[in-house]
Amino acid sequence: MSDCIFCKIIEGHIPSRKVHEDDRVVAFWDAHPASPIHILIVPKNHIPTLNDIPENDQILAHVGAVAKTVARQFGVDQSGYRLFVNVNRGGGQMVFHLHAHLVAGNDLGTLFIKAAIACAILWRKLVGLVVKNRVSR
Ligand code: 5GP
Ligand code: ZN
Repeated sequence: MSDCIFCKIIEGHIPSRKVHEDDRVVAFWDAHPASPIHILIVPKNHIPTLNDIPENDQILAHVGAVAKTVARQFGVDQSGYRLFVNVNRGGGQMVFHLHAHLVAGNDLGTLFIKAAIACAILWRKLVGLVVKNRVSR
């Protein structure tokens, strides 16, 4: 489609940071990554939304297989990643050319939150001990 940004990327008219390409899909970095790793897996055929995939079309299965390859490429296939498709405006879809998001690498954020909670628990215990010590004197 002439006015579709992902078609333009697929045709090479708009640059992208490609990480995978085969006869059915391309995968490239999201322009505004929401995670340390944020890859879009995009079928080469212009299909506007998941609702428009023709019956018997195995494109989603292929997108899943490519996600596995890309995740392995980035070393997150074992540690974990998220794969999702936004469908229509209510589902958060902004680009109307079917694509799946592969996101990963937020472990550091989770670790930070866990460390902060552990510090808060320790701090409460410490304050409790000091107060108890003062009362018993
Ligand atoms: P959606 O909200 O449609 O599921 O996701 C569209 C995604 O495409 C967004 O995460 C957005 O950052 C990304 N995006 C939009 N325009 C471009 C572009 O020109 N290049 C690349 N690489 N990503 C884009
Ligand atoms: Zn398109």
